[in-house]
Amino acid sequence: MMLYIGCHLSASAGNLAMVETAKSIGANTFAFFTRNPRGSKAKEEDPADCARAVQALADEQFGKLVAHGAYTMNLCTADAGARAFAAELLKDDLRRMAALPGNYYNFHPGCHVGQGSDIGISQICDALKKALEPNYPVTVLLETMAGKGSEIGGTFEELRHILDGVGNDQVGVCLDSCHIYDAGYDIVNDLDGVLAEFDRVIGLDRLKALHLNDSKNPFSSHKDRHECLGAGSLGIETFRKIVNHPRLKALPMILETPNDLPAYAKEIALLRQLEE
Ligand code: FE
Ligand code: FE
Ligand code: ZN
Repeated sequence: MMLYIGCHLSASAGNLAMVETAKSIGANTFAFFTRNPRGSKAKEEDPADCARAVQALADEQFGKLVAHGAYTMNLCTADAGARAFAAELLKDDLRRMAALPGNYYNFHPGCHVGQGSDIGISQICDALKKALEPNYPVTVLLETMAGKGSEIGGTFEELRHILDGVGNDQVGVCLDSCHIYDAGYDIVNDLDGVLAEFDRVIGLDRLKALHLNDSKNPFSSHKDRHECLGAGSLGIETFRKIVNHPRLKALPMILETPNDLPAYAKEIALLRQLEE
């Protein structure tokens, strides 16, 4: 079976251009921001470009894409007006994803900024319930976070609470290797133990995608600084275990390492070589 590996790409030249760029670096999936990651502007939709991209993805037998919501979209910010605006962004993103049906939309659950995680989680659930239409052709993924500041999603339990609060199977989880190691899940020494814990708390059937990043910081640092594969505290052996793990190897794997395209091509080739 083929591994589905890719990296984060610029969406500025459109969807078909991303498929072509991905192909040129040996990728067969990719990630992209649905709108300006630090702002909120989204590009005008181009139905012809979307249709051509859908055809190219099928022709090239790509795995599922893992789109990424804007970092600034905080569904549990304390200000009610800003929170309503974030909920509208989510709704608009999910509507746009319908032009690329069958793919994933991943986002950072949010920061409760002093409201407490229970209130934050209920606000995230409210926004998701309002944004998700039945039979939407997109699965929403909650990203596992490093637990920096008031970030929600640094524990499997918090993600479980969001899944329970939304209460349907249109929501899954994207596991970020840097984030969970920084959060205190020791995938370096006990990957199987961490996955068993994930299965107990969330259920491995909800795990839909991986972000593969090494970490600039030590175990349980709650920092979230990505490093190139093998150059950080996770080390290349951790990624060898991940790409060969029977419960992980079929998932789309997205690199968000600090690289340009030629360096991403090398990291993708490296991961393919690690497959036994
Ligand atoms: Fe992310
Ligand atoms: Fe990530
Ligand atoms: Zn990160």
